[in-house]
Amino acid sequence: MKLDHSKSNQVGAEAEKVIVGGVNSPSRSYKAVGGGYPVTMEYGDGAYLYDVDGNRYIDYLAAYGPIITGFNHPHVVKAVKSAAETGVLFGTPTKHEVKFAKMLTDAIPSMDKVRFTNSGTEAVMTTVRVARAYTNRELIVKFSGQYHGHFDLVLVEAGSGPSTLGTNSSGGVTVGTAREVITVPYNDVESYRAVMEKWGDQVAAVLVEPIVGNFGMVAPKPGFLEAVNEITHQHGALVIYDEVITNFRFHYGAAQDLLGVIPDLTAFGKSIGGGLPIGAYGGPVEIMDTVAPLGPAYQAGTMAGNPLSMQAGIACLEVLQEPGIYERMADFAEQLRDALEAAGKKYSIPTVVNQIGGSLQVYFTDHEVKDYNDAVDTDAERYGKFFKAMLDEGINLAPSKYEAMYITIMHTQEDIDETKKAIDTAFSKL
Ligand code: PMP
Repeated sequence: MKLDHSKSNQVGAEAEKVIVGGVNSPSRSYKAVGGGYPVTMEYGDGAYLYDVDGNRYIDYLAAYGPIITGFNHPHVVKAVKSAAETGVLFGTPTKHEVKFAKMLTDAIPSMDKVRFTNSGTEAVMTTVRVARAYTNRELIVKFSGQYHGHFDLVLVEAGSGPSTLGTNSSGGVTVGTAREVITVPYNDVESYRAVMEKWGDQVAAVLVEPIVGNFGMVAPKPGFLEAVNEITHQHGALVIYDEVITNFRFHYGAAQDLLGVIPDLTAFGKSIGGGLPIGAYGGPVEIMDTVAPLGPAYQAGTMAGNPLSMQAGIACLEVLQEPGIYERMADFAEQLRDALEAAGKKYSIPTVVNQIGGSLQVYFTDHEVKDYNDAVDTDAERYGKFFKAMLDEGINLAPSKYEAMYITIMHTQEDIDETKKAIDTAFSKL
């Protein structure tokens, strides 16, 4: 069914005049899926979004990860209301910060102390600064295709080979900054070992998304993260996990506990805030005490640890402690994986689905997707058609083949059944 998007398109046209590209974050644009104005949403309820034309969507975008308890979970809403009614910002410590910090350090064994920030970008950026201050070294290694936010240092691509320094991938990033970063393929131990053999004594830290959520959903190969830890520590550098997507996504805790591989520092964000602006980073006392006012690494924030985000975050984590919810989200994701694979077979469309817990992504390809190059080498045009066909069926996905689908605790079996039907219809049009 073709939905009426006339009001949405009007808002889109107005938006373009006053907001760059009509969006406040580039990934919201429909550029990667064949263009057109993005749908303008009016409100969210549970697992549903309603647009300005009155169309309802079952949502799997989850705002790119933060929405794990749904758009307006009563417990989170109550916490936000209560926070708003009792003062939104003090510039002083509050007891909520302490309670939330304790919840995080209790749930994550590698974290003795945390600091809150306002975004994932800030959290990752600070872990890099702390690692540099702690090790007294400057180089950073990252894995290609992994996204760590929009600070200069991580907007850098691989150089011409694993043994060269990086080149900038955004205007405004200096050549000097790009030369502080080395990029290697994910899931490729030998490339990483080669880089560390060449540069290891200058490397402060390696940045890792332990499970990748930024070229779909990609799991580490057995032994990969263990090898990264071992090689990194042999060279006296630190391992930083960027768990901005993976925190509390697969179980109550971080992906590191699930995988049994422990980093030195971890950056958090997205779902720990129940949808409010948030980031956090943490690690053992010895490293975290490098941060001001105790140590030389400066990090601050007027809004950091604000009462609204803290109380929303506490409420969100309280909800996530309900028994059985992660199993349920994983079951729903498995059902969608099976439906996507079955539709691929039925309509003879090469389809690969990567699914981990309650998250998944569909790739239009006939090969395994284990690193960024594999994800690049999938059919973007077909993904664009799939995205639009699903939108027509009232299903909201990410408008890019590099993102992922997220189940929330508000999805029901009826939603999953409706989505399976939509998948079949969408594939019939591909
Ligand atoms: N790290 C990862 C793994 C991310 O996916 C993102 C956001 N997509 C960030 C960092 C940046 O977080 P934020 O958008 O909150 O700054």
